[in-house]
Amino acid sequence: MTQRLVIAIDGPSGSGKSSTARGVATRLGLGYLDTGAMYRAVTCAFVDAGVAPSDTAGVIAATVGAQLEISTDPADQWVRVNGVDVTERIRSQEISSVVSAVSTVAECRADLVARQRAIIDAAPSGIVAEGRDITTVVAPDAHLRVLLTADPEVRMARRKQDLGGEVDAAALADQVLRRDRDDSKLVNFTTAADGVVHLDGTYLTLEQTINTVIDLVGRND
Ligand code: C5P
Repeated sequence: MTQRLVIAIDGPSGSGKSSTARGVATRLGLGYLDTGAMYRAVTCAFVDAGVAPSDTAGVIAATVGAQLEISTDPADQWVRVNGVDVTERIRSQEISSVVSAVSTVAECRADLVARQRAIIDAAPSGIVAEGRDITTVVAPDAHLRVLLTADPEVRMARRKQDLGGEVDAAALADQVLRRDRDDSKLVNFTTAADGVVHLDGTYLTLEQTINTVIDLVGRND
């Protein structure tokens, strides 16, 4: 029987962790979990419930009460909240600009971490999970843990490309720099914890980054 393989990848926005994690999952035949999509999906839930981002009790209630379904197929990613498909909507500036109202609240994080652990445990052959606290909180006992970083200019350029190149400088800075600042209030994803491999992807192509992670899996055997 082959062993289940769990790979944890953390990093700031625009570091390339989603594309890397999806690529590694595809190449190794594993599931893929985009935990950021879960934070974004429950953000849709509180917005739709008419809850203001500053209403912490309301945000917690909307998070804990959300019915959340997410695909772990790297070739077919979708996410549904309270029965509604929000796959496209979670990438909008409307949602990106207020997702920190969920991610900076400890009760919301605890709820989502529990859901993420259940998904990871249920993956038959294993999974590549990516986010901000996967290497440290969600799956500290993963087979391989990687912190993927890149210089801010490179991360802004990549995020701009993700958004189709049509985004003004202020929105881009909000999506990358302001969000990193807010996100680092409760989670440290800028320095690698003990046993976590720090991979600087600034000068690597996506293919080189994927290959490096796969090499690291082999070395951890
Ligand atoms: O990775 P992505 O940019 O889609 O994540 C969206 C937001 O979800 C992040 O800005 C962060 O606030 C939150 N997040 C988190 N912990 C994770 C994944 C995402 O706090 N593990």
